[in-house]
Amino acid sequence: MRFDVITLFPELFGPFLQHGINRRAFASGQVDVRLWPLRDYAEGNYRRVDDRPFGGGPGMVMLADPLARCWQAVREQRQAEGAPPAPTVLFSPLGRRMDHALVAREAQGPGAILVCGRYEGIDQRFIDQCVDVQISLGDFVLSGGEVAAMAWLDAVARLQPGVLNDAGSHQQDSFNPALDGLLDCPHYTRPEVWQGPRGQAAVPPVLLSGHHGQIEQWRRRERLSLSARLRPELIDQARAAGRLSPDDER
Ligand code: SAM
Repeated sequence: MRFDVITLFPELFGPFLQHGINRRAFASGQVDVRLWPLRDYAEGNYRRVDDRPFGGGPGMVMLADPLARCWQAVREQRQAEGAPPAPTVLFSPLGRRMDHALVAREAQGPGAILVCGRYEGIDQRFIDQCVDVQISLGDFVLSGGEVAAMAWLDAVARLQPGVLNDAGSHQQDSFNPALDGLLDCPHYTRPEVWQGPRGQAAVPPVLLSGHHGQIEQWRRRERLSLSARLRPELIDQARAAGRLSPDDER
């Protein structure tokens, strides 16, 4: 899969692509990420990429022209290199909120052209003519789409086969259908008893029992009670999908 990222700040992606568990996927090209510096597609001595908004108001708006030139260059290169057709995604507070279902679908796809906005946003005419889908990181406003693009690439890359050391480990994560979309259970490691700032805290004894059935049962109960407490709608969704057993409902 191939992602082409159109951004004014390609340098922000350097450390992200070179560190962490996903770096193998990026380095090997399993998740091929190409960065496209938008300013290279701007014209004039000042390589201008923004201008004042028509109608007045604060801030600047990204010009449609450099974006369209860069977008066209991406599409031509993708075609010349035989990359499959892929949608153009704009990161925007107006978009659909990122969630596991969206990421899992993307993880099966051909990749995308990712557009990172800045300033007050992008001239609507570019969005109308070139963008297929808008995706939001959440109901708040970032100063640019790059952080959202990195979140998207990170979540998609870790679902690729072979990226995580333990192949099935993402299936044990929160929201995964393999765990009925529930929240993850708590995790513990050494020491068995930890002296914390508020006193001694021991690992739940069942986790030291070596009894796999009981451990699984404990983890299931934890997932259910955490989800019921923190995200009750996940319980409702699991119930509606027929994923809760009579044991779970007790
Ligand atoms: N004026 C815009 C609004 O109120 O919706 C916000 C523009 S924001 C300062 C600049 C850029 O950051 C946006 O064009 C978008 O690409 C990105 N951005 C901001 N918030 C985002 C979010 N919640 N999710 C994804 N991208 C976001």
